[in-house]
Amino acid sequence: MHPLFDKRRYLIPFRSSLLPQIFTDTLVIGGGVAGLRAAIEAAASIKGAPGDVILLSKSAFDATNTAWAQGGIAAVLRDDDSFESHAADTIEAGAGLCDERAVDLMVEEGAQRIRELIDWNIRFDRDKKSGELHTGREGGHHASRVYHADGDATGRELQRLLLERARATEGVRIFENCFSLDLITPTAEPGSPVRGAITHHSRYGLQMIWAKTVILASGGAGQLFRETTNPRGATADGVAMAYRAGATIADMAFVQFHPTTLYLPGAHRALISEAVRGEGAHLLDASGLRFMTEVHELAELAPRDIVSRAIIRRIAQQGGSHVWLDCRGIANFQDRFPGIHALLRRFELDPAKDLIPVHPAAHYAVGGVRADEVGRTDVPGLLAAGEVTCTGFHGANRLASNSLLEGLVAGARSGRHARERAVDNGAATNGGHPAQVVSDIRPSDQGEIDLVDIRSSLRSAMWRNVGIDRVGPKLRDTQEMFDFWGRYTLDKIFDEPEAWETQNLLTVGALVARAAEWREESRGCHARSDFNEPRAEFAVHDLWRRGRPTPETVGRDELFAAGA
Ligand SMILES: Cc1cc2nc3c(=O)[nH]c(=O)nc-3n(C[C@H](O)[C@H](O)[C@H](O)COP(=O)(O)OP(=O)(O)OC[C@H]3O[C@@H](n4cnc5c(N)ncnc54)[C@H](O)[C@@H]3O)c2cc1C
Repeated sequence: MHPLFDKRRYLIPFRSSLLPQIFTDTLVIGGGVAGLRAAIEAAASIKGAPGDVILLSKSAFDATNTAWAQGGIAAVLRDDDSFESHAADTIEAGAGLCDERAVDLMVEEGAQRIRELIDWNIRFDRDKKSGELHTGREGGHHASRVYHADGDATGRELQRLLLERARATEGVRIFENCFSLDLITPTAEPGSPVRGAITHHSRYGLQMIWAKTVILASGGAGQLFRETTNPRGATADGVAMAYRAGATIADMAFVQFHPTTLYLPGAHRALISEAVRGEGAHLLDASGLRFMTEVHELAELAPRDIVSRAIIRRIAQQGGSHVWLDCRGIANFQDRFPGIHALLRRFELDPAKDLIPVHPAAHYAVGGVRADEVGRTDVPGLLAAGEVTCTGFHGANRLASNSLLEGLVAGARSGRHARERAVDNGAATNGGHPAQVVSDIRPSDQGEIDLVDIRSSLRSAMWRNVGIDRVGPKLRDTQEMFDFWGRYTLDKIFDEPEAWETQNLLTVGALVARAAEWREESRGCHARSDFNEPRAEFAVHDLWRRGRPTPETVGRDELFAAGA
């Protein structure tokens, strides 16, 4: 990275001793599937005493990526399916970069986590006559193994269930509208352990939250791109915070684009779930031709990168702004997809009669903070779980419906590990004593800047130059642009979350552009028109760290190694 991104350890100046102090065993940053599942586990009772946990979320709980998930959760619970088949589909989508230990663990333990949700009375959809759980198929899966709720509102139900459970768990305190600015380490040196976070609560202002263990579960980065399915808060804060704290960030070139979002000027890029294609919807080009059958044996159910690229290329060949999704063959669309049906009706579209205009959009961050099988990162005291991480489970591309599963498994594992650390009074923990930490940053004397403009310019540049089809010169242009914008944006001191988010987006956008330029090949969801094929020398994970201008690499099966 350019040194300007590495200059500051913290976003704002502070003296920890002058701020209100809060103490806990485990601080969980994020209230989606990964954070909630982690909090429940980290509060588990040992010898009758619950663990002490604080969970914070900068957004409302209905505005997490989790709450917006539609299609479902993949898991092997049926006799006609197998772990091997789920693992094979995951590895195929991962295009040569899946760490097989991570895949086996998520797939096998994922089934237990889903059984547990059923025991906790999750309202998965069931067959009306037999009462059996209903399963669907999604892109890249060779079996029907996707469990869903309320047709297309699986995330909403999962969020409800886990939030209710976390709220009812003794030992868990939940702070909503509380923004984490930075992870605190006693010194800025590499290897300095994380001891908590500096946060900003909409009502109480800045606070220090000291913890024996911090679990980062802050979700994705879709807001890096102008077109995205992600909610407003998916601004990559977790990756930026972890980077500043010295953690290793892996595989940032891999951003998954969802092929089918509703494309109407003025409408939010709402997802038209893969499950709709799973139920038989077809993609048609401008001349009404079903083109995916020419591209892949699974046609519309091919892995997402293949479908997204095919759409973008077809639009480029034919002109226009979108392709069409033909749902007219789906009986009872309204019953199966009530949320999508209601959305379409708002724009006077009737899926039984009308073709739906669709276009790809940024959807899922495959890369992220390197984490191992219990969520350990390379920084002592810092665990991470969910979309913010990179464990090697998804390789170079994520299989549909595997991310809620990962959030459940990794959340529970990291929560358990934090609970163990809390009862272990040995050297591994911080003993709960705060360090005096001073961030001594001088305000820049350069003038005011229009942050709204920077945010929208960077999102447009990312979409244009670091989007679905990438090429070296444009990736380099983007880096130069971001280095320039960074000079007068990262030296400022701001006092509100939108500004901190913009600084984080700039840092992580610069990382994605660099990683995409470094990866001179096409693999999984990373496509370079100047390097059209996968290349053996890039069948590695690229690791980025503060203070190092170029990445290190590790082999395919070395990412999921033990952390600190
Ligand atoms: C429209 C849509 C549909 C999807 N459909 C599916 C699907 O069907 N199946 C599937 O498996 N996956 C799906 N996904 C992906 C999946 O929803 C996410 O990968 C997953 O929910 C991520 O969970 P998480 O807990 O890691 O993060 P999130 O659920 O995004 O939660 C992140 C949390 O961190 C908080 N946070 C972030 N930054 C900060 C900060 N600085 N300070 C404090 N708090 C912070 C947020 O407020 C939030 O509470 C979908 C995603 C989208 C957007």
